[in-house]
Amino acid sequence: MKIPLAIPDLTGNESAYLQECIASSFVSSVGPFVHRFEAEIAELSGSNRAVVVSSGTVALQIALETLGISAGDLVMVPSLTFIASANAVRHSGANVWLVDSGREYWSLDLALCRRLIEDETEQHAKGRRHVASGRILRAIMPVMIMGASVDLEGFAALGREFGLRIVVDAAAAIGAEASGGTNLAKTGVDAVCYSFNGNKTITCGGGGAIAAAEDELMVNAAHLISTGRVGENYEHDIVAYNHRMTNIQAAVGVAQLERLPQFLRRKQEVGAYYDDLAARHSDLSPFPAPPFGSNTRWFSGVWYTGGDLSLCNAFRAHMKSAGVDLRQFWKPVHLQAPYSDALASRMPVAEDLWPRIFPLPCSSGLSAEDLATVVAAADDFWGRNAGRDASRSGAVTAGGRTEAECG
Ligand SMILES: *Cc1c(COP(=O)(O)O)cnc(C)c1O
Repeated sequence: MKIPLAIPDLTGNESAYLQECIASSFVSSVGPFVHRFEAEIAELSGSNRAVVVSSGTVALQIALETLGISAGDLVMVPSLTFIASANAVRHSGANVWLVDSGREYWSLDLALCRRLIEDETEQHAKGRRHVASGRILRAIMPVMIMGASVDLEGFAALGREFGLRIVVDAAAAIGAEASGGTNLAKTGVDAVCYSFNGNKTITCGGGGAIAAAEDELMVNAAHLISTGRVGENYEHDIVAYNHRMTNIQAAVGVAQLERLPQFLRRKQEVGAYYDDLAARHSDLSPFPAPPFGSNTRWFSGVWYTGGDLSLCNAFRAHMKSAGVDLRQFWKPVHLQAPYSDALASRMPVAEDLWPRIFPLPCSSGLSAEDLATVVAAADDFWGRNAGRDASRSGAVTAGGRTEAECG
């Protein structure tokens, strides 16, 4: 594909720092870049300490486990997310309770979470017991979808009210701040988790991080990911993991962080072009801009609000033929085979939205020329297909699942 969706820009100090790792022989999980990267992530997220790990999925899993969530527990997760959010819950031993998103901002619907807690759980000696399954609801995992803001203060308040932990999937939201410039870890949530996978705003090749306001949580997380070792000898006090980040990965991360402001600026510029694109076509809308803090616009693009869903696949095919990497957006978790039996709310929003969302190329280093190619190809398609609806094309059946899976 000529213009990929999101690839890293590694033209800063990445090579120089990697050379330092090799020359010093600090290539493994001990090394100066690990400490530096942890300190910088802590600073950015408003915690005293951060713990870097091997992936964003692991960051979420370790945050949950460190907070005491385990087999038999329930964790609320939005269905409209990358499947890793749900996988992390399963890896911790708990089960997911998949919940629909709000139509306005696409993220986990706070009011719906409250309603489900009030209607479907009851107070029990161990916490909020889900009546039908008998499981204890222990946590909620709001996801900062597209790198946009979420009402973290609202979730934190809901958590306090019902004795639930709030673990934020900020995998794609590095650089985000909550309302009023508050750092994410200072919003009252229990943990904030990032990913540094290759397609994220900054990358380590692969990696993740956990930040939290509570220092003890960070100490326990660091212990849990590094074999539970105590002291200098081979003494271990728990069955723990080796989920550490290596100095090599952290070296890339440190170099990437140096350019975070520049990457975030470029994401805003690219997003603004796609907002303008949406404004030119009556069947397109911009991605939402929730008012709960900064929007890092990890992913930006447009979405289809018209009545002929067959156009969505036609648009994807058109963009592919123009050399643009336009894929189907995340299929909601409740429609994925491993979660077909999971506890789930009704999903009118997730099922309606996902086939309509078009994440357009948004690499931190996207060139003006490539951006112009993307926008011209999209203008061409929507200029020719303005105002079509299903009654005229006759190509659509009712119901999100069927529509989405045609072609
Ligand atoms: C990328 C991502 C993850 C997983 O991160 P990995 O580093 O790939 O394990 C989890 N949740 C969301 C929303 C993501 O975008």
